Amino acid sequence: MANIIAIANQKGGVAKTTTAVNLSACLVEQGKKVLLLDLDPQGNATSGCGVIKSKLKNSIYDVLINEVPMERIIKQTELTGLFIAPAQIELAGAEIELVGLEQREGKLASALMSIKGDYDFIIIDCPPSLGLLTLNALTAATDVLIPVQCEYYALEGLSLLMDTIQRVKGRLNPRLNILGALLTMFDARTNLGIQVVDEVKKYFKSKVFSTIVPRNVRLGEAPSHGKPIVLYDDRSRGAEVYRDLAEEVLQRV
Ligand code: ADP
Ligand code: MG
Repeated sequence: MANIIAIANQKGGVAKTTTAVNLSACLVEQGKKVLLLDLDPQGNATSGCGVIKSKLKNSIYDVLINEVPMERIIKQTELTGLFIAPAQIELAGAEIELVGLEQREGKLASALMSIKGDYDFIIIDCPPSLGLLTLNALTAATDVLIPVQCEYYALEGLSLLMDTIQRVKGRLNPRLNILGALLTMFDARTNLGIQVVDEVKKYFKSKVFSTIVPRNVRLGEAPSHGKPIVLYDDRSRGAEVYRDLAEEVLQRV
């Protein structure tokens, strides 16, 4: 059965999508078969893998709301072994449409039943909110990985996220494991960056990954070429760092 890792933080711009795409690609390099599941209406993980959203016949929205089987929306990407369950903007409506449904937090978990034996990893890119889409991800997941941007107010909002995770554990998914917190967009030239690393380590203790993702121009450029970093610039610092993260993840699961 696949390890299902939700990449979650209700803050926008903390590198959830960057981490989801590049961790997925680096796990593929390690010989794993990976499904990247885009659960953000912005569809950045989808386009970041080279899938043209306007050409999609159906997407994760149809799986959650119209009971289209998951296997029907999954596409192979340019990187052999990396598959994507794409999202597009209509998914924004699902946040509201799910409210009226039975077992509204469990839709994604049920949809994954038939395919989770087919992959080693399913990586879920969550939207920047703690609404029903993120609750579906946390309910379906075996693990949650929390990216934390090395900036002022990094810890703000994290207690709300941790409360949400505890509530999901209590009611919906008792075995949900916090895989770790990942420090992102680190800038070694600033005291602030170093200070934030210390604070986050105090808060998460051994749950903080030893891999710290620095700011890296190539990581920022890769999505506009529709490629994970290992296809865009194999030798960049960004590629190296996400390879290190993949190794750490393999040790922790
Ligand atoms: P989120 O999904 O949490 O909103 P993104 O992964 O989209 O965050 O990242 C926000 C922005 O920062 C994007 O433009 C992305 O390309 C850029 N970015 C992410 N990580 C890095 C990094 N390590 N170095 C430079 N730019 C980055
Ligand atoms: Mg995102």
